Amino acid sequence: MSSKILLLPNHVSNQIAAGEVIQRPASMVKELLENAVDAKARTIQLVIKNAGKTLVQVIDDGEGMSNTDLYLAFERHATSKISVAEDLFALTTKGFRGEALASIAAIAHVETHTRTKKDEVSSSLKIEGSKVVDKSISTHPQGTSIAVKSLFYNIPARRNFLKSDHVELRHVINEFHRIALAHPEIKFLFFNNGNELFDLPVSGLKQRISGIFGNKWDSQLLPVNEKTSLANIKGFAVKPVFTKKTKGQQFFFVNDRFIKSPFLHHAVSTAFEGLLRPGYQPGYFLYLQVDPKSIDINIHPTKTEVKFEEEQNLYSILRAAVKHSLGIFQVMPTLDFEQNSSMEVPYAFKDKSAVLPPIGIDSNFNPFKNDSNSNFSSLSSKKDPQWEGLHSDLQKEEISSLNHSQESLMKISESPKVFQLFSKYIVCPLKTHMLIIDQKRAHQRVLYERFLNSITNKKGISQQLLFPIELKLNSQQLDEFQYVELDLEMLGFQLNMKKGKTLVIRGAPDHCPVSKIEEVIETLLSESEDESSLEYFSHADQVAKRMTKCLAIKTGELLDVKEQQALLDDFFGCKETAVSPFNRKIFITLEKTDIEKKLN
Ligand code: ADP
Ligand code: MG
Repeated sequence: MSSKILLLPNHVSNQIAAGEVIQRPASMVKELLENAVDAKARTIQLVIKNAGKTLVQVIDDGEGMSNTDLYLAFERHATSKISVAEDLFALTTKGFRGEALASIAAIAHVETHTRTKKDEVSSSLKIEGSKVVDKSISTHPQGTSIAVKSLFYNIPARRNFLKSDHVELRHVINEFHRIALAHPEIKFLFFNNGNELFDLPVSGLKQRISGIFGNKWDSQLLPVNEKTSLANIKGFAVKPVFTKKTKGQQFFFVNDRFIKSPFLHHAVSTAFEGLLRPGYQPGYFLYLQVDPKSIDINIHPTKTEVKFEEEQNLYSILRAAVKHSLGIFQVMPTLDFEQNSSMEVPYAFKDKSAVLPPIGIDSNFNPFKNDSNSNFSSLSSKKDPQWEGLHSDLQKEEISSLNHSQESLMKISESPKVFQLFSKYIVCPLKTHMLIIDQKRAHQRVLYERFLNSITNKKGISQQLLFPIELKLNSQQLDEFQYVELDLEMLGFQLNMKKGKTLVIRGAPDHCPVSKIEEVIETLLSESEDESSLEYFSHADQVAKRMTKCLAIKTGELLDVKEQQALLDDFFGCKETAVSPFNRKIFITLEKTDIEKKLN
Protein backbone atom coordinates (compact mmCIF):
# COMPACT_ATOMS: atom_id res chain seq x y z
CA MET A 1 0.00 0.00 0.00
CA SER A 2 1.40 3.38 -0.93
CA SER A 3 1.91 6.04 1.73
CA LYS A 4 0.97 9.68 1.40
CA ILE A 5 3.27 10.82 4.19
CA LEU A 6 6.76 11.84 3.03
CA LEU A 7 9.80 12.90 4.95
CA LEU A 8 10.62 16.45 3.89
CA PRO A 9 13.95 16.85 2.13
CA ASN A 10 16.61 18.46 4.29
CA HIS A 11 16.71 21.82 2.52
CA VAL A 12 12.93 22.19 2.88
CA SER A 13 12.87 21.38 6.59
CA ASN A 14 15.81 23.74 7.08
CA GLN A 15 13.89 26.50 5.35
CA ILE A 16 10.92 25.91 7.61
CA ALA A 17 13.10 25.92 10.71
CA ALA A 18 14.79 29.08 9.45
CA GLY A 19 11.46 30.86 9.64
CA GLU A 20 11.60 30.59 13.42
CA VAL A 21 15.19 31.59 13.88
CA ILE A 22 15.85 34.17 11.18
CA GLN A 23 13.21 36.85 10.72
CA ARG A 24 15.39 39.70 9.58
CA PRO A 25 19.04 40.76 9.26
CA ALA A 26 19.14 41.53 12.98
CA SER A 27 18.43 37.87 13.82
CA MET A 28 21.49 36.81 11.81
CA VAL A 29 23.60 39.46 13.50
CA LYS A 30 22.53 38.10 16.87
CA GLU A 31 23.31 34.47 15.98
CA LEU A 32 26.66 35.20 14.35
CA LEU A 33 27.82 37.52 17.13
CA GLU A 34 26.80 34.96 19.73
CA ASN A 35 28.75 32.25 17.94
CA ALA A 36 31.82 34.48 17.94
CA VAL A 37 31.42 35.13 21.67
CA ASP A 38 30.99 31.39 22.31
CA ALA A 39 34.20 30.81 20.33
CA LYS A 40 35.99 33.00 22.93
CA ALA A 41 36.89 35.73 20.49
CA ARG A 42 38.71 38.76 21.86
CA THR A 43 37.92 40.99 18.91
CA ILE A 44 34.73 40.81 16.88
CA GLN A 45 34.01 42.80 13.74
CA LEU A 46 30.53 43.24 12.37
CA VAL A 47 30.29 44.45 8.80
CA ILE A 48 26.93 45.03 7.16
CA LYS A 49 25.65 46.57 3.95
CA ASN A 50 22.24 48.08 3.46
CA ALA A 51 21.26 47.37 7.03
CA GLY A 52 22.20 43.72 6.53
CA LYS A 53 19.91 43.05 3.60
CA THR A 54 22.86 42.77 1.22
CA LEU A 55 25.57 41.62 3.59
CA VAL A 56 26.06 40.56 7.18
CA GLN A 57 29.61 39.53 7.98
CA VAL A 58 31.07 38.64 11.34
CA ILE A 59 34.83 38.21 11.67
CA ASP A 60 36.26 36.88 14.92
CA ASP A 61 39.64 35.81 16.28
CA GLY A 62 38.20 32.94 18.30
CA GLU A 63 38.84 29.21 18.36
CA GLY A 64 37.88 28.56 14.76
CA MET A 65 36.71 25.24 13.35
CA SER A 66 38.50 22.26 11.91
CA ASN A 67 37.72 21.27 8.35
CA THR A 68 35.32 18.52 9.48
CA ASP A 69 33.60 20.71 12.04
CA LEU A 70 33.04 23.35 9.38
CA TYR A 71 30.80 20.96 7.46
CA LEU A 72 29.02 19.74 10.56
CA ALA A 73 28.36 23.27 11.74
CA PHE A 74 25.86 23.76 8.91
CA GLU A 75 23.91 20.60 9.72
CA ARG A 76 20.74 21.08 11.70
CA HIS A 77 20.97 20.15 15.40
CA ALA A 78 24.74 20.11 15.11
CA THR A 79 26.36 21.82 18.06
CA SER A 80 29.57 21.57 20.03
CA LYS A 81 27.96 23.21 23.04
CA ILE A 82 25.84 20.48 24.59
CA SER A 83 25.90 16.73 24.23
CA VAL A 84 23.44 15.35 26.77
CA ALA A 85 20.08 16.62 27.97
CA GLU A 86 21.48 17.49 31.41
CA ASP A 87 23.77 20.03 29.77
CA LEU A 88 20.69 22.13 29.09
CA PHE A 89 20.63 22.96 32.78
CA ALA A 90 24.25 23.97 33.03
CA LEU A 91 24.55 26.25 30.02
CA THR A 92 27.49 28.57 29.88
CA THR A 93 27.24 29.36 26.18
CA LYS A 94 24.84 31.51 24.18
CA GLY A 95 24.09 28.86 21.60
CA PHE A 96 22.99 25.32 22.23
CA ARG A 97 20.33 24.51 19.67
CA GLY A 98 22.63 23.97 16.73
CA GLU A 99 20.09 25.53 14.42
CA ALA A 100 21.39 28.94 13.50
CA LEU A 101 23.97 28.19 10.82
CA ALA A 102 21.78 25.53 9.18
CA SER A 103 18.91 28.00 9.10
CA ILE A 104 20.95 30.85 7.69
CA ALA A 105 22.47 28.62 5.01
CA ALA A 106 18.98 27.54 3.93
CA ILE A 107 17.83 31.04 3.04
CA ALA A 108 20.94 32.90 1.90
CA HIS A 109 24.40 32.65 0.35
CA VAL A 110 26.99 31.93 3.01
CA GLU A 111 30.75 32.07 2.70
CA THR A 112 32.88 30.87 5.61
CA HIS A 113 36.60 30.91 6.27
CA THR A 114 37.89 29.39 9.46
CA ARG A 115 41.09 28.21 11.10
CA THR A 116 41.90 26.72 14.47
CA LYS A 117 45.10 27.44 16.36
CA LYS A 118 46.66 24.10 15.56
CA ASP A 119 45.73 24.01 11.85
CA GLU A 120 48.22 25.45 9.42
CA VAL A 121 45.75 26.35 6.74
CA SER A 122 42.20 27.60 6.87
CA SER A 123 39.14 25.95 5.36
CA SER A 124 36.63 27.78 3.21
CA LEU A 125 33.11 26.76 2.34
CA LYS A 126 30.41 28.32 0.21
CA ILE A 127 26.79 27.27 0.66
CA GLU A 128 23.73 28.55 -1.20
CA GLY A 129 20.28 27.43 -0.11
CA SER A 130 21.68 24.50 1.92
CA LYS A 131 23.81 23.31 -1.05
CA VAL A 132 27.59 23.33 -0.92
CA VAL A 133 28.74 25.18 -4.05
CA ASP A 134 32.45 25.53 -3.32
CA LYS A 135 35.07 24.38 -0.85
CA SER A 136 38.74 25.15 -0.67
CA ILE A 137 41.81 25.52 1.50
CA SER A 138 43.02 29.04 2.13
CA THR A 139 45.29 31.09 4.34
CA HIS A 140 43.04 33.07 6.64
CA PRO A 141 44.22 33.90 10.15
CA GLN A 142 42.97 32.03 13.20
CA GLY A 143 39.31 32.56 13.86
CA THR A 144 36.21 32.56 11.76
CA SER A 145 34.68 34.84 9.17
CA ILE A 146 31.12 34.18 8.08
CA ALA A 147 29.61 36.37 5.37
CA VAL A 148 25.92 36.09 4.59
CA LYS A 149 24.69 37.62 1.35
CA SER A 150 21.36 37.77 -0.46
CA LEU A 151 19.20 37.09 2.56
CA PHE A 152 15.87 35.42 1.61
CA TYR A 153 16.98 35.21 -2.04
CA ASN A 154 14.87 32.06 -2.38
CA ILE A 155 11.89 33.26 -0.31
CA PRO A 156 10.59 36.44 -2.00
CA ALA A 157 7.68 36.67 0.44
CA ARG A 158 10.05 37.03 3.38
CA ARG A 159 12.26 39.42 1.47
CA ASN A 160 9.34 41.69 0.72
CA PHE A 161 8.37 41.61 4.34
CA LEU A 162 11.59 43.37 5.35
CA LYS A 163 11.21 46.99 6.40
CA SER A 164 13.15 50.02 5.17
CA ASP A 165 16.93 50.08 5.71
CA HIS A 166 16.38 52.61 8.44
CA VAL A 167 14.12 50.31 10.43
CA GLU A 168 16.21 47.20 9.82
CA LEU A 169 19.34 49.05 10.89
CA ARG A 170 17.61 50.02 14.13
CA HIS A 171 16.98 46.34 14.84
CA VAL A 172 20.56 45.42 14.01
CA ILE A 173 21.90 48.15 16.28
CA ASN A 174 19.65 46.96 19.09
CA GLU A 175 21.02 43.43 18.85
CA PHE A 176 24.54 44.79 18.69
CA HIS A 177 23.95 46.88 21.84
CA ARG A 178 22.73 43.85 23.73
CA ILE A 179 25.76 41.73 22.95
CA ALA A 180 28.32 44.51 23.26
CA LEU A 181 26.87 45.50 26.65
CA ALA A 182 27.04 41.91 27.85
CA HIS A 183 30.73 41.63 26.92
CA PRO A 184 32.83 44.67 27.70
CA GLU A 185 35.81 42.30 27.83
CA ILE A 186 35.57 41.88 24.05
CA LYS A 187 36.56 44.55 21.53
CA PHE A 188 33.82 45.27 19.00
CA LEU A 189 33.91 47.08 15.67
CA PHE A 190 30.81 47.72 13.63
CA PHE A 191 30.58 49.10 10.08
CA ASN A 192 27.54 49.81 7.95
CA ASN A 193 28.07 50.65 4.25
CA GLY A 194 31.72 51.32 5.00
CA ASN A 195 30.97 53.79 7.81
CA GLU A 196 32.17 53.01 11.29
CA LEU A 197 29.22 53.01 13.66
CA PHE A 198 31.00 51.68 16.74
CA ASP A 199 34.58 51.12 17.86
CA LEU A 200 34.38 49.74 21.38
CA PRO A 201 37.70 48.88 23.02
CA VAL A 202 38.02 46.32 25.80
CA SER A 203 36.85 48.20 28.90
CA GLY A 204 34.92 48.18 32.12
CA LEU A 205 31.17 48.16 32.14
CA LYS A 206 30.72 51.86 32.68
CA GLN A 207 33.03 52.74 29.83
CA ARG A 208 31.21 50.28 27.61
CA ILE A 209 27.89 51.92 28.38
CA SER A 210 29.37 55.34 27.64
CA GLY A 211 31.02 53.99 24.50
CA ILE A 212 27.62 52.99 23.22
CA PHE A 213 25.38 55.75 24.49
CA GLY A 214 27.74 58.72 24.68
CA ASN A 215 30.30 60.06 27.14
CA LYS A 216 27.78 62.02 29.08
CA TRP A 217 26.57 58.79 30.57
CA ASP A 218 29.46 58.54 32.94
CA SER A 219 27.91 60.97 35.37
CA GLN A 220 24.41 59.64 34.98
CA LEU A 221 24.89 56.17 36.43
CA LEU A 222 24.59 54.91 39.97
CA PRO A 223 26.34 51.62 40.74
CA VAL A 224 24.25 48.68 41.92
CA ASN A 225 26.01 45.86 43.77
CA GLU A 226 24.50 43.04 45.73
CA LYS A 227 25.81 39.59 46.51
CA THR A 228 23.41 36.94 47.78
CA SER A 229 23.36 33.18 47.64
CA LEU A 230 20.58 33.31 45.05
CA ALA A 231 22.16 35.83 42.72
CA ASN A 232 24.95 38.30 42.33
CA ILE A 233 23.72 41.57 40.99
CA LYS A 234 25.90 44.28 39.55
CA GLY A 235 25.44 47.10 37.11
CA PHE A 236 24.00 50.56 37.11
CA ALA A 237 20.77 52.43 37.59
CA VAL A 238 20.27 55.67 35.69
CA LYS A 239 19.93 58.63 38.05
CA PRO A 240 16.24 59.52 38.09
CA VAL A 241 16.89 63.04 36.88
CA PHE A 242 18.49 61.70 33.72
CA THR A 243 15.82 59.18 32.87
CA LYS A 244 13.96 59.45 29.59
CA LYS A 245 10.46 58.92 28.36
CA THR A 246 11.55 56.15 26.04
CA LYS A 247 12.40 52.61 27.02
CA GLY A 248 15.76 52.49 25.29
CA GLN A 249 17.70 52.33 28.57
CA GLN A 250 16.42 49.12 30.09
CA PHE A 251 18.77 46.18 30.03
CA PHE A 252 18.80 42.95 32.01
CA PHE A 253 21.47 40.36 31.54
CA VAL A 254 21.39 36.96 33.16
CA ASN A 255 24.67 35.08 33.05
CA ASP A 256 25.80 37.50 30.32
CA ARG A 257 22.75 36.89 28.18
CA PHE A 258 20.38 39.77 27.40
CA ILE A 259 16.88 38.93 28.56
CA LYS A 260 13.49 40.56 28.69
CA SER A 261 11.60 40.13 31.91
CA PRO A 262 8.46 42.12 32.66
CA PHE A 263 8.61 40.61 36.13
CA LEU A 264 12.09 41.88 36.96
CA HIS A 265 11.30 45.17 35.24
CA HIS A 266 8.45 45.56 37.67
CA ALA A 267 10.82 45.02 40.58
CA VAL A 268 13.11 47.78 39.35
CA SER A 269 10.22 50.11 38.55
CA THR A 270 8.91 49.88 42.09
CA ALA A 271 12.38 50.73 43.39
CA PHE A 272 12.22 53.92 41.33
CA GLU A 273 8.76 54.73 42.65
CA GLY A 274 8.35 58.33 43.68
CA LEU A 275 11.60 59.35 42.05
CA LEU A 276 10.51 59.73 38.47
CA ARG A 277 8.67 62.55 36.83
CA PRO A 278 5.35 61.44 35.37
CA GLY A 279 5.75 59.63 32.07
CA TYR A 280 9.46 58.97 32.57
CA GLN A 281 10.91 55.47 32.39
CA PRO A 282 13.39 53.95 34.82
CA GLY A 283 16.77 53.32 33.22
CA TYR A 284 19.03 50.44 34.18
CA PHE A 285 21.81 48.13 33.09
CA LEU A 286 21.61 45.18 35.46
CA TYR A 287 23.71 42.05 35.35
CA LEU A 288 22.57 39.01 37.28
CA GLN A 289 24.77 36.00 37.82
CA VAL A 290 22.81 32.96 38.93
CA ASP A 291 23.44 29.24 39.07
CA PRO A 292 22.71 27.99 35.52
CA LYS A 293 20.72 25.16 37.12
CA SER A 294 18.27 27.64 38.60
CA ILE A 295 17.10 29.03 35.27
CA ASP A 296 15.46 27.68 32.16
CA ILE A 297 16.29 29.57 29.00
CA ASN A 298 14.79 26.93 26.84
CA ILE A 299 11.33 28.39 26.59
CA HIS A 300 11.62 30.71 23.63
CA PRO A 301 13.24 30.05 20.25
CA THR A 302 14.87 33.44 20.11
CA LYS A 303 15.89 33.09 23.73
CA THR A 304 15.20 36.47 25.26
CA GLU A 305 12.97 35.05 27.98
CA VAL A 306 14.12 33.14 30.99
CA LYS A 307 12.31 31.24 33.72
CA PHE A 308 13.74 31.60 37.23
CA GLU A 309 13.40 29.03 39.96
CA GLU A 310 12.96 31.44 42.85
CA GLU A 311 11.29 34.31 41.10
CA GLN A 312 9.73 35.92 44.15
CA ASN A 313 12.98 36.02 46.10
CA LEU A 314 14.86 37.35 43.13
CA TYR A 315 12.24 40.07 42.78
CA SER A 316 12.77 41.24 46.36
CA ILE A 317 16.55 41.10 46.15
CA LEU A 318 16.62 43.07 42.94
CA ARG A 319 14.22 45.69 44.21
CA ALA A 320 16.20 46.13 47.42
CA ALA A 321 19.48 46.37 45.52
CA VAL A 322 18.23 49.12 43.24
CA LYS A 323 16.51 50.96 46.09
CA HIS A 324 19.68 50.80 48.08
CA SER A 325 21.67 52.25 45.23
CA LEU A 326 19.19 55.07 44.63
CA GLY A 327 19.02 55.76 48.36
CA ILE A 328 22.67 55.61 49.16
CA PHE A 329 23.38 58.26 46.61
CA GLN A 330 20.73 60.42 48.14
CA VAL A 331 18.68 60.92 45.10
CA MET A 332 15.80 62.61 46.78
CA PRO A 333 12.47 63.13 45.08
CA THR A 334 12.74 66.90 45.44
CA LEU A 335 15.79 66.87 43.29
CA ASP A 336 13.78 65.49 40.46
CA PHE A 337 10.63 67.46 40.69
CA GLU A 338 12.02 70.82 41.56
CA GLN A 339 14.87 70.78 39.17
CA ASN A 340 16.94 73.77 40.09
CA SER A 341 18.26 75.94 37.37
CA SER A 342 21.82 74.67 37.63
CA MET A 343 20.59 71.38 36.28
CA GLU A 344 19.19 73.06 33.25
CA VAL A 345 22.51 74.48 32.22
CA PRO A 346 23.28 73.56 28.66
CA TYR A 347 25.52 70.57 28.50
CA ALA A 348 28.51 72.43 27.18
CA PHE A 349 28.62 74.47 30.36
CA LYS A 350 27.90 71.75 32.83
CA ASP A 351 31.43 70.85 33.74
CA LYS A 352 32.87 74.33 33.59
CA SER A 353 33.54 76.22 36.76
CA ALA A 354 33.16 79.59 35.04
CA VAL A 355 30.27 81.86 35.96
CA LEU A 356 27.07 80.81 34.32
CA PRO A 357 26.10 82.81 31.30
CA PRO A 358 23.36 85.29 32.12
CA ILE A 359 20.99 83.75 29.63
CA GLY A 360 20.66 80.15 28.81
CA ILE A 361 18.09 79.36 31.43
CA ASP A 362 14.61 80.57 31.21
CA SER A 363 13.13 79.02 34.31
CA ASN A 364 10.12 81.27 34.07
CA PHE A 365 9.48 80.28 30.53
CA ASN A 366 5.89 80.66 29.64
CA PRO A 367 4.84 78.96 26.44
CA PHE A 368 1.87 81.25 26.09
CA LYS A 369 3.49 84.63 26.29
CA ASN A 370 4.75 84.20 22.83
CA ASP A 371 3.88 86.81 20.29
CA SER A 372 4.52 84.52 17.42
CA ASN A 373 1.61 82.44 18.63
CA SER A 374 -0.65 84.64 16.62
CA ASN A 375 0.97 83.78 13.32
CA PHE A 376 -0.49 80.40 13.91
CA SER A 377 -4.10 81.48 13.66
CA SER A 378 -3.59 81.76 9.91
CA LEU A 379 -3.86 78.01 9.96
CA SER A 380 -7.50 78.03 10.88
CA SER A 381 -9.68 77.05 8.01
CA LYS A 382 -12.26 74.40 8.68
CA LYS A 383 -13.55 74.09 12.19
CA ASP A 384 -16.07 71.75 13.62
CA PRO A 385 -19.52 73.25 14.04
CA GLN A 386 -19.49 73.08 17.82
CA TRP A 387 -16.35 75.10 17.85
CA GLU A 388 -17.72 77.68 15.47
CA GLY A 389 -20.51 78.04 17.98
CA LEU A 390 -18.08 78.76 20.76
CA HIS A 391 -16.27 81.23 18.60
CA SER A 392 -19.36 83.24 17.81
CA ASP A 393 -20.61 83.07 21.39
CA LEU A 394 -17.38 84.51 22.57
CA GLN A 395 -17.42 87.21 19.99
CA LYS A 396 -20.88 88.30 20.99
CA GLU A 397 -19.68 88.66 24.51
CA GLU A 398 -16.68 90.63 23.46
CA ILE A 399 -16.42 94.31 23.95
CA SER A 400 -17.60 95.50 20.57
CA SER A 401 -15.07 98.28 20.23
CA LEU A 402 -12.24 95.79 19.98
CA ASN A 403 -11.31 95.54 16.40
CA HIS A 404 -10.93 92.06 15.01
CA SER A 405 -7.28 92.30 14.08
CA GLN A 406 -6.44 92.82 17.72
CA GLU A 407 -7.77 89.37 18.43
CA SER A 408 -5.45 86.97 20.24
CA LEU A 409 -4.44 87.66 23.84
CA MET A 410 -6.21 90.97 24.23
CA LYS A 411 -9.54 89.65 23.17
CA ILE A 412 -10.48 87.46 26.08
CA SER A 413 -8.22 88.95 28.68
CA GLU A 414 -10.52 91.94 28.73
CA SER A 415 -13.33 89.72 29.93
CA PRO A 416 -11.91 86.80 31.87
CA LYS A 417 -14.37 84.01 31.46
CA VAL A 418 -12.22 80.99 31.98
CA PHE A 419 -10.81 79.18 34.98
CA GLN A 420 -8.64 76.22 35.69
CA LEU A 421 -10.03 73.14 37.40
CA PHE A 422 -8.01 70.47 39.24
CA SER A 423 -4.82 71.85 37.58
CA LYS A 424 -5.93 69.82 34.64
CA TYR A 425 -8.86 71.35 32.83
CA ILE A 426 -9.77 74.76 31.57
CA VAL A 427 -13.42 75.53 32.03
CA CYS A 428 -15.00 77.98 29.68
CA PRO A 429 -18.62 78.93 30.52
CA LEU A 430 -20.75 80.12 27.62
CA LYS A 431 -24.39 81.20 27.26
CA THR A 432 -26.05 77.82 27.01
CA HIS A 433 -23.28 75.44 27.82
CA MET A 434 -19.87 75.03 29.30
CA LEU A 435 -16.69 73.65 27.77
CA ILE A 436 -14.32 71.56 29.83
CA ILE A 437 -11.02 71.38 28.03
CA ASP A 438 -8.08 69.12 28.85
CA GLN A 439 -5.18 71.59 29.04
CA LYS A 440 -2.46 69.16 28.10
CA ARG A 441 -4.26 67.75 25.09
CA ALA A 442 -5.32 71.18 23.88
CA HIS A 443 -1.76 72.39 24.05
CA GLN A 444 -0.52 69.26 22.31
CA ARG A 445 -2.92 70.05 19.48
CA VAL A 446 -1.67 73.63 19.25
CA LEU A 447 2.00 72.66 19.24
CA TYR A 448 1.55 69.73 16.91
CA GLU A 449 -0.14 71.80 14.23
CA ARG A 450 2.44 74.51 14.63
CA PHE A 451 5.37 72.11 14.28
CA LEU A 452 3.83 70.23 11.40
CA ASN A 453 3.16 73.51 9.67
CA SER A 454 6.77 74.61 10.19
CA ILE A 455 8.13 71.39 8.78
CA THR A 456 5.87 71.08 5.77
CA ASN A 457 5.86 74.76 4.86
CA LYS A 458 9.51 75.18 5.76
CA LYS A 459 8.86 78.27 7.79
CA GLY A 460 9.88 77.62 11.36
CA ILE A 461 10.89 80.80 13.15
CA SER A 462 14.26 80.59 14.80
CA GLN A 463 15.68 82.28 17.86
CA GLN A 464 19.44 82.65 17.93
CA LEU A 465 21.17 81.40 21.05
CA LEU A 466 23.71 83.74 22.59
CA PHE A 467 25.61 80.71 23.80
CA PRO A 468 25.50 77.81 21.40
CA ILE A 469 24.83 74.43 23.01
CA GLU A 470 27.14 71.56 22.17
CA LEU A 471 26.01 67.98 22.31
CA LYS A 472 28.32 65.04 21.75
CA LEU A 473 26.38 62.46 19.82
CA ASN A 474 26.89 58.73 20.06
CA SER A 475 26.89 56.69 16.90
CA GLN A 476 23.28 55.73 17.17
CA GLN A 477 22.29 59.39 17.55
CA LEU A 478 24.57 60.35 14.67
CA ASP A 479 22.86 57.80 12.57
CA GLU A 480 19.41 59.06 13.54
CA PHE A 481 20.55 62.64 12.94
CA GLN A 482 20.81 62.22 9.21
CA TYR A 483 17.14 61.28 9.07
CA VAL A 484 15.87 64.26 10.99
CA GLU A 485 18.40 66.96 10.16
CA LEU A 486 16.24 68.56 7.51
CA ASP A 487 13.12 68.49 9.66
CA LEU A 488 15.01 70.07 12.54
CA GLU A 489 16.12 72.90 10.29
CA MET A 490 12.59 73.41 9.04
CA LEU A 491 11.42 73.66 12.61
CA GLY A 492 13.85 76.48 13.25
CA PHE A 493 16.88 74.72 14.70
CA GLN A 494 20.20 76.10 13.47
CA LEU A 495 22.68 73.29 13.62
CA ASN A 496 26.07 72.25 12.50
CA MET A 497 28.46 69.42 13.21
CA LYS A 498 31.89 69.82 14.74
CA LYS A 499 34.53 67.14 14.34
CA GLY A 500 31.95 64.83 12.87
CA LYS A 501 30.49 63.97 16.27
CA THR A 502 29.55 67.11 18.14
CA LEU A 503 26.29 68.79 17.32
CA VAL A 504 26.43 72.55 17.78
CA ILE A 505 23.03 74.16 18.29
CA ARG A 506 23.11 77.85 17.45
CA GLY A 507 19.43 78.53 17.18
CA ALA A 508 16.16 76.91 18.19
CA PRO A 509 12.48 77.26 17.30
CA ASP A 510 11.13 80.38 18.96
CA HIS A 511 8.63 78.43 21.05
CA CYS A 512 11.23 75.99 22.38
CA PRO A 513 12.62 77.23 25.72
CA VAL A 514 16.39 77.16 25.99
CA SER A 515 16.21 74.89 29.00
CA LYS A 516 14.36 72.30 26.95
CA ILE A 517 16.54 72.28 23.85
CA GLU A 518 18.79 69.46 24.93
CA GLU A 519 15.91 67.23 25.93
CA VAL A 520 14.10 67.92 22.68
CA ILE A 521 17.12 67.08 20.55
CA GLU A 522 17.82 63.93 22.54
CA THR A 523 14.24 62.78 22.23
CA LEU A 524 14.28 63.40 18.49
CA LEU A 525 17.49 61.42 18.14
CA SER A 526 16.50 58.58 20.43
CA GLU A 527 15.53 55.10 19.45
CA SER A 528 11.90 54.66 18.70
CA GLU A 529 11.78 51.16 20.08
CA ASP A 530 8.60 51.70 21.98
CA GLU A 531 6.86 53.40 19.11
CA SER A 532 5.83 51.41 16.12
CA SER A 533 6.76 53.34 13.01
CA LEU A 534 3.34 52.38 11.69
CA GLU A 535 1.92 54.76 14.27
CA TYR A 536 3.04 57.70 12.16
CA PHE A 537 1.70 59.02 8.91
CA SER A 538 5.01 60.44 7.86
CA HIS A 539 8.40 61.36 9.10
CA ALA A 540 7.31 64.95 9.63
CA ASP A 541 4.39 63.66 11.66
CA GLN A 542 6.75 61.66 13.86
CA VAL A 543 9.08 64.59 14.47
CA ALA A 544 6.17 66.94 15.20
CA LYS A 545 4.64 64.45 17.64
CA ARG A 546 7.88 63.87 19.49
CA MET A 547 8.49 67.62 19.81
CA THR A 548 4.95 68.02 21.04
CA LYS A 549 5.38 65.36 23.71
CA CYS A 550 8.45 67.14 25.05
CA LEU A 551 7.10 70.65 25.08
CA ALA A 552 3.39 70.48 25.83
CA ILE A 553 2.26 71.70 29.23
CA LYS A 554 1.49 68.90 31.60
CA THR A 555 -1.45 67.89 33.68
CA GLY A 556 -0.91 69.38 37.11
CA GLU A 557 0.65 72.57 35.83
CA LEU A 558 -0.93 75.68 37.23
CA LEU A 559 -1.81 78.28 34.61
CA ASP A 560 -2.73 81.84 35.36
CA VAL A 561 -5.74 83.40 33.69
CA LYS A 562 -3.72 84.93 30.89
CA GLU A 563 -2.09 81.64 30.12
CA GLN A 564 -5.41 79.87 30.10
CA GLN A 565 -6.84 82.44 27.73
CA ALA A 566 -3.82 82.36 25.46
CA LEU A 567 -4.04 78.62 25.27
CA LEU A 568 -7.70 78.75 24.29
CA ASP A 569 -6.98 81.47 21.82
CA ASP A 570 -4.33 79.39 20.09
CA PHE A 571 -6.59 76.42 20.28
CA PHE A 572 -9.37 78.30 18.41
CA GLY A 573 -7.03 78.51 15.47
CA CYS A 574 -6.43 74.80 15.17
CA LYS A 575 -7.55 72.87 12.13
CA GLU A 576 -8.74 70.00 14.23
CA THR A 577 -10.14 70.52 17.69
CA ALA A 578 -11.89 67.30 18.59
CA VAL A 579 -8.89 65.11 19.33
CA SER A 580 -5.26 65.53 20.34
CA PRO A 581 -2.50 64.44 17.94
CA PHE A 582 -2.48 61.23 19.96
CA ASN A 583 -6.12 60.68 19.28
CA ARG A 584 -7.50 61.60 22.68
CA LYS A 585 -10.66 63.66 23.15
CA ILE A 586 -9.74 67.25 24.00
CA PHE A 587 -12.93 68.68 25.48
CA ILE A 588 -16.45 67.89 26.53
CA THR A 589 -19.49 70.14 26.71
CA LEU A 590 -21.82 70.39 29.62
CA GLU A 591 -25.21 71.83 28.60
CA LYS A 592 -27.12 74.15 30.86
CA THR A 593 -29.98 71.68 30.57
CA ASP A 594 -27.72 68.88 31.79
CA ILE A 595 -27.14 70.83 34.97
CA GLU A 596 -30.80 71.68 35.30
CA LYS A 597 -31.69 68.02 34.91
CA LYS A 598 -29.24 67.02 37.60
CA LEU A 599 -30.63 69.56 40.00
CA ASN A 600 -34.17 68.58 39.40
P1 ADP B 1 24.88 26.59 18.28
O1 ADP B 1 25.53 27.92 18.45
O2 ADP B 1 23.52 26.53 18.89
O3 ADP B 1 25.76 25.47 18.69
P2 ADP B 1 25.08 27.19 15.45
O4 ADP B 1 24.34 26.68 14.29
O5 ADP B 1 25.04 28.63 15.73
O6 ADP B 1 24.60 26.39 16.72
O7 ADP B 1 26.59 26.76 15.30
C1 ADP B 1 26.91 25.39 15.14
C2 ADP B 1 28.31 25.09 15.62
O8 ADP B 1 29.26 25.70 14.76
C3 ADP B 1 28.64 25.62 16.98
O9 ADP B 1 28.23 24.74 18.01
C4 ADP B 1 30.15 25.79 16.93
O10 ADP B 1 30.80 24.59 17.25
C5 ADP B 1 30.41 26.08 15.47
N1 ADP B 1 30.61 27.53 15.23
C6 ADP B 1 29.70 28.40 14.76
N2 ADP B 1 30.21 29.64 14.65
C7 ADP B 1 31.47 29.57 15.07
C8 ADP B 1 32.56 30.51 15.21
N3 ADP B 1 32.40 31.81 14.91
N4 ADP B 1 33.74 30.06 15.68
C9 ADP B 1 33.91 28.76 16.00
N5 ADP B 1 32.95 27.83 15.90
C10 ADP B 1 31.75 28.21 15.44
MG1 MG C 1 24.88 29.67 17.61
